[in-house]
Amino acid sequence: RLDLRALHRSYEGREVVSGVSLTIRAGEVCCLLGPSGCGKSTTLRMVAGVEHQDAGEILVDGERISGPGRHLPAEKRRIGLMFQDFALFPHLSVAENVAFGLTGSRAEKRARVEELLTRVDLIRYIDDYPHGLSGGEQQRVALARALAPKPRVMLMDEPFSGLDNRLRDGIRDQTLDLLKEEGTAVLLVTHEPEEAMRMADEIALMRGGRIVQQGAPYNIYNAPVDREAVAFFSDIN
Ligand code: ATP
Ligand code: MG
Repeated sequence: RLDLRALHRSYEGREVVSGVSLTIRAGEVCCLLGPSGCGKSTTLRMVAGVEHQDAGEILVDGERISGPGRHLPAEKRRIGLMFQDFALFPHLSVAENVAFGLTGSRAEKRARVEELLTRVDLIRYIDDYPHGLSGGEQQRVALARALAPKPRVMLMDEPFSGLDNRLRDGIRDQTLDLLKEEGTAVLLVTHEPEEAMRMADEIALMRGGRIVQQGAPYNIYNAPVDREAVAFFSDIN
């Protein structure tokens, strides 16, 4: 479970995140949806711990990982990351890539790697290197790698935008299935309403650093908060 409470962040005196609050329960996907520059990635980076908020706090499973007087470093947050350009390590095999963040015995690591590669249908490539894989396959290896250490929260910033249209739907569905099985709380950033409608349990519509509407995809689609939101959803059907 992830709780964001009144996060604020300014750059050079201009506030780009202005009091974002959100709760995502384990096993649920929340899509942060909004136009370019509205503060989505900045919000994600604060949760990841690679950037510090000016005010507000962040809790994971009830534990305050960041807030006044506390800033747990990124590597200790047990948060998985997946970005569009989050490349695999080219000099490591598929198995070594997935095992990268794992601790435990050799046998335990191997078991977890095999489990995840089986679930993303890539077990046959376990000893291959990333350059021989297609973009979609590399993406699924990256997903397996991010989920291997059983993160409590998964952050995804436009993870599918580098894929061609033909592959995207299939990979979205497979990703969603795996995330649900793992029971991770997911914060997925996108500027594509269609992607949010497809993947989200809840959509948080963001604009100008604020969440302007939040709820089930169906409700937001049917009752957009204002004309701008209507326009935003108008190109999907
Ligand atoms: P996009 O959909 O284009 O990825 P976004 O919603 O992710 O947009 P952010 O990357 O969070 O937007 O940026 C929000 C605002 O903050 C933008 O106006 C951006 O120019 C500004 N910004 C982001 N990072 C920095 C930085 N390191 N220094 C200065 N300004 C920044
Ligand atoms: Mg962004």
